[in-house]
Amino acid sequence: MPTEQPFWKTTALADMTKDQWESLCDGCGKCCVLKLEDIDTGAIYYTDVSCKLLCTKSAQCTNYEERKSHVPDCVILTPQTLDEVHWMPESCGYRRLHEGKDLPQWHPLRTGNKEAMIAANHCVAGHVTTETEVAEDDMPDHLFDWDHPSTI
Ligand code: SF4
Repeated sequence: MPTEQPFWKTTALADMTKDQWESLCDGCGKCCVLKLEDIDTGAIYYTDVSCKLLCTKSAQCTNYEERKSHVPDCVILTPQTLDEVHWMPESCGYRRLHEGKDLPQWHPLRTGNKEAMIAANHCVAGHVTTETEVAEDDMPDHLFDWDHPSTI
């Protein structure tokens, strides 16, 4: 008897229900850290400095529903804004599915909780400083490669 495939393997991103779409977010918080862009190459560099709305202990947005009004350049990812997904971290479920890849083995949809993700060092909780505590000139000292986080 064939095994039933999970929804993310059978449903296009654009066709997912709101709940399915939201469940793809693993809650890592990596998209909520500040990034620096090389103006010559367009390369994006992640930092260990978080958006002022992110709780640094839980990696949850403290004002998720109204985040756009407090942080106007916050990108709210939807099926219509997937062209923004290229700057999401390599581990991000939206980016991975958009690129034709599968969800990581540690993803909460596979494991049922966040423990494996945290154990694999893929959550920023407890590893970031909020932006209000870091001077802009010091930002280059805060670069951090979240896609290869073995050094946390
Ligand atoms: S990077 Fe992707 S999976 Fe992680 S919190 Fe942001 S949207 Fe969710």
